[in-house]
Amino acid sequence: MLTSRLPDWVEPYKLAARAERLEGLVALDGFARLAEQVGAQRGDCSVWLDFAIDAQGRREIHGRLKAELQLPCRRCLLPMTQQVESDFRLGMVTSDALAAELPSTHEPVLVENEQLNLLETVEDELILSLPQSVYHDEAQCSVSSDQLSSGEAAESSAPAAVSPFEVLRRLKGKP
Ligand SMILES: [Zn+2]
Repeated sequence: MLTSRLPDWVEPYKLAARAERLEGLVALDGFARLAEQVGAQRGDCSVWLDFAIDAQGRREIHGRLKAELQLPCRRCLLPMTQQVESDFRLGMVTSDALAAELPSTHEPVLVENEQLNLLETVEDELILSLPQSVYHDEAQCSVSSDQLSSGEAAESSAPAAVSPFEVLRRLKGKP
């Protein structure tokens, strides 16, 4: 189990040259962009990062992350616990132009002045790994699929195609 915290910033070229591994926790409540998408989160994300220089001389990071998130059910919007995991390869680039030269196996990560914003990188990766849509089992969901499919309940429930954020806005708008 991880107990240490990851630093906010690292010097990735040095870490790659020494083939170092960084592992640690990142607090989920610091991720504002993630919160915008799926609501505020608590707890930690576990992260493992292996820095390396590959056979082509590219500096890369092979990473893995794991977190327990509370994601809104698309039907009733109540949060449900979901395990999110991701395995990823990042290629370090110093400009957008260089990002285009990376093989499709690697996602570009921008290094400026030899510094890498680790928190932003982990947040990006976490957002990319969010499941497309999350639903309770019907028995546990507070909105039944009958309510959704019949037009009669239109006033009290939203059609399935409407985005959960739109529904949330409507709910919040109610007196
Ligand atoms: Zn639900």
